[in-house]
Amino acid sequence: MLNIVIFGPPGAGKGAQSQNIINKYHLVHLSTGDILRSQIALGTPLGIKAKKLMDKGELVPDDIVIGMINYKIENSPDAKGFIFDGFPRTVAQAEALDKLLKDKKTFVSGVISLEVQYNELVKRILNRGKDSGRSDDQDIAIIQNRIMVYNDKTSPLINFYKAQNKYHAINGMGSIEEIFRRITKVMDAF
Ligand code: AMP
Repeated sequence: MLNIVIFGPPGAGKGAQSQNIINKYHLVHLSTGDILRSQIALGTPLGIKAKKLMDKGELVPDDIVIGMINYKIENSPDAKGFIFDGFPRTVAQAEALDKLLKDKKTFVSGVISLEVQYNELVKRILNRGKDSGRSDDQDIAIIQNRIMVYNDKTSPLINFYKAQNKYHAINGMGSIEEIFRRITKVMDAF
């Protein structure tokens, strides 16, 4: 199995590059942000709880997102591999992912980390907010908080994956095509 974590701060281009990766490598896309937004659209109790946190740019509790990922893995018996997009976002989530995959006799093949400058992140998110309708993409204070939460809770994963020799930093500045070429060079070596 090829199991990829696409990593980086909000606005780094994880969603766009996931689409390219799925098309080329035929992996199952697991985006916790997308799953949470579909729960919000359905108006489920989980969605209602998650929306309050997402609207502030805070993280949803670990047990909720780990449960969602577990459910999706369990229900994808034919998957050739997964691309984890926006997950893990904390060390506890990364440890849980290692355990879930170990139970399936597989593991994280590699982490693709998109590196993008702060000003460009804010610009991209505000731009996306014009079409996405996402309230967390439209307010500068919420965007700044999301980036702060990334620096505080998610960036420790860089060392977590470096220690496992799985971390691959990619220059995430430039066109989508250019960045994807950089990604495939790394992924083809997995
Ligand atoms: P995203 O679509 O990945 O930018 O996620 C949007 C929002 O969903 C985040 O700001 C969090 O509030 C929530 N979220 C998504 N994935 C996770 C996760 N793995 N852990 C905690 N919260 C998450």
